[in-house]
Parts: sequence; structure tokens; C-alpha cells
Amino acid sequence: MEYVLTAKNLSKDYKGFRALDNLSLHVPKGAVYGLVGKNGAGKTTLIRILCALQEPSAGEYTIFGVDSGDRGILQARGRMGAVVEAPAVYQELTAEENLRIQYKVLGRRDLEGISGLLELVGLENTGRKKVKNFSLGMRQRLGIAVALAGEPELLILDEPVNGLDPQGIIEMRRLLQKLNREKGVTILISSHILDELSKLATHYGFIDKGRMVEEMEAADMGEELEKHYMKLMGGDWDE
Ligand code: ATP
Repeated sequence: MEYVLTAKNLSKDYKGFRALDNLSLHVPKGAVYGLVGKNGAGKTTLIRILCALQEPSAGEYTIFGVDSGDRGILQARGRMGAVVEAPAVYQELTAEENLRIQYKVLGRRDLEGISGLLELVGLENTGRKKVKNFSLGMRQRLGIAVALAGEPELLILDEPVNGLDPQGIIEMRRLLQKLNREKGVTILISSHILDELSKLATHYGFIDKGRMVEEMEAADMGEELEKHYMKLMGGDWDE
């Protein structure tokens, strides 16, 4: 099995509080890997560490087989895109202007690729509209377009459907399916919306109190995600 992302014994302490506790992770190439867990389980902390927004207290991780302690990790991280917390977009600019800036940041000169990217995320008809006048779903999809500007092979998304209306959720699902199936992008996604996640995920990682309780393939679950989650996390379940 080829893994694009792994973690081993990853821990994070905040002044005596252990947010991640010897966590392990295995994200296979081509997967849509759903990270699930209660509020405060450590999902965002894990994602922030993988994106180098935070340092782990102990343990290591690999990106495309490169160890987090190796020099090549910067280059490996260049093969990944992420939207963590609010998407990093400029409110006073249009979608196209935002992408032009990102292309500039990346040193990309092939600006003609921008229209294809706008089309991919369904923002090709937004013209002169400024991002501040976008719906939340449009803003989220622009955030993903910005993350895709470097043509990443791995996309990390923290709660991408949080706060979206039904249409926004459907559009986001279609976009992520397209990226995964047609472009071969591996996706790591955290979500509380189990029903929606189960429409997308090929693999799951269940996190509780900073630990990876279980990793599994969706195909091996043999029951609904919601039911499995409740059993695993110690909730009651009425048949
Ligand atoms: P949610 O689903 O609510 O987003 P999560 O699984 O993403 O939760 P984290 O945001 O990773 O959880 O937080 C894990 C734990 O670490 C929580 O108990 C949180 O309060 C704590 N924590 C996070 N950041 C800090 C910090 N900077 N200082 C102290 N504690 C923190």
C-alpha cells in the first residue's frame, strides 16, 4: 500500500493538556480519508501540524514518504494544498483576481489555467463580483481553488461543509468527487456531518481524546457510519 500521508506516535501538549496522544495515521494514495471525532478530539490540531502551522511535541509524520524531520519535507509539502479554518482569500477582489495573486505567489506564469480552475470549482460566471459578496459555499470553493493552484496531489480540508446550505453541500461533494475521481487527488477531510461524509469517504480515521481509535476502509465497515461511530465512541444506539 502506498501512503501519501502517515503519522507515528504524534503528540501535542498544550501546557499540560494532551491534545494529540501518540496518534497514528495512514492515508492511502487515491483515498478520500474522512477524519471523524467529537469536538475537541484533536482533528484540527492534527491537520495544523500536518500543514506545518504548528509543531508537534513528539512523534513524526511523513508526506509522500518524506519524513517530517528530513530536508525534503518542504518540497513534499509543495505537493499538497490545504484549506484550514477560514479560506485564505481577499474579500475586496474577484475570484479571478484572487487566483491571479496565488499564481503569482507560486511563480506560475500560465495564467490561462485560471479559467479552467474557476470552471472546476463552479465559479466561472462570477465576473466582477467581489468575494465579500459571495455565498459561504462560493467562498469555500474559491478557497479550494486557491489550494489547487499549485496542482496538489493531496488536498487537506478542515470541515469544508461546515455552515453550508444544502446546495452548497451538494456542490462541494461534487467538486471533491471530481477532484478525487477525475484528477486523482487524494483528500483528507475532517467533518462532523457523518451522513455527508459517508457519501464521499473511501477510508475513515476515528479520533477520540487525541488518539486514533480505529482506521478502516469504508468498504469494510459493514454498517452505517453513524452506527459504527456511536458504537466506537461509546454512544447509545436505539435499534
Ligand atoms: P472540533 O471538532 O471542535 O473542531 P477538534 O477535533 O478539531 O475539535 P482541536 O481543535 O484539535 O479539536 O482541539 C483539541 C483539544 O486541544 C481541545 O480540547 C482544545 O481545547 C485544545 N486546544 C486546541 N488549541 C489549543 C491551544 N492553543 N491551547 C490550549 N488548548 C488548545
